[in-house]
Amino acid sequence: MLIVPEREIADLMTRDAAFDAVEKVFAAMAAGDAYNFPVVREAIGHEDALYGFKGGFDQAGLTLGLKAGGYWPHNLEKRGIINHQSTVFLFDPDTGKAKAMVGGNLLTALRTAAASSVSIKHLARDDASVIGMIGAGHQATFQLRAALEQRQFEKVIGWNYHPDMLPNIEKVATEAGLPFEAVELEGMVDADVIISITSAFAPSLMADHVSPGTHIACMGTDTKGKQEVEAALLARAAVFTDEVAQSISIGEAQHAIGAGLIAETDINQLGAVINGTHAGRTSDDQITLFDGTGVGLQDLAVAAAVVDLAVQKGIAIEVDF
Ligand code: NAD
Repeated sequence: MLIVPEREIADLMTRDAAFDAVEKVFAAMAAGDAYNFPVVREAIGHEDALYGFKGGFDQAGLTLGLKAGGYWPHNLEKRGIINHQSTVFLFDPDTGKAKAMVGGNLLTALRTAAASSVSIKHLARDDASVIGMIGAGHQATFQLRAALEQRQFEKVIGWNYHPDMLPNIEKVATEAGLPFEAVELEGMVDADVIISITSAFAPSLMADHVSPGTHIACMGTDTKGKQEVEAALLARAAVFTDEVAQSISIGEAQHAIGAGLIAETDINQLGAVINGTHAGRTSDDQITLFDGTGVGLQDLAVAAAVVDLAVQKGIAIEVDF
């Protein structure tokens, strides 16, 4: 069995490799070659932790496994380690033998950023020049960095519930040589692409904060009850997702579906656009919305890619198991 520790991931994994792995696995999901297993998520009654598994099998990439982990809210204050903790386990689909154990913390941020980035590549207008960020926490910086590679953006605008966090995303814009402007939510009408990545349970972005032709990637809503955008916005938009079952149950679409504003059949897999079986954006005026809920297959895809890189560079630790 191979081990790739968390400390090695930053030097091994690139945004390009994460993008390719996620784009491929979304395509495999839409082609029916890859599927996610039901998610387990439990409050374990210890340290207020939420722990669970996300797994799946990709028959095209021959990747089988799971990500185990969750959220330990007291880690940072008590132990000085991050609250989100996860590890990916890969298995040999021919034999069932454990194949690899990979640190999953940084990979989670990279695969989530890759998902919105893939959505921008396939759904945003080619001439998109202003990107709007809603959220300025840990994930937001990864999201923005990856998104800036997809179009010739000229300006970054941002809003955050806690304005004191905005310098986090301003720093990413500055590093990319782009001007940054903090705006009110109404100012998002100037954006051609909007990424929302917050932990909110009530909508911030309303339907009239969005101009025709905008692409929105909603990345924060991954749990029942969470919500970042007004449900009416989904009714105005062509809606895409990583996985329809998650979109309607734990994703942004749960609210529009619940309110009867859209039907399950109105939601399309982003993978179908990648495969060319769905047209994607059909006009420059259309609003497109990607409901990125986060699937286990994304974790497995980036973990498999990092194992390959670790083997190539002689960094993977081999143990008898
Ligand atoms: P974080 O704690 O670092 O940042 C949280 C962000 O949410 C901050 O910008 C904060 O200001 C904002 N926020 C907090 N309360 C708010 C409110 N009431 N209204 C509006 N904004 C509010 O968290 P993070 O690590 O950046 O994660 C952000 C979200 O992304 C979380 O909900 C997390 O579960 C989700 N997430 C999704 C995926 C996926 O695959 N879709 C993957 C990882 C994380």
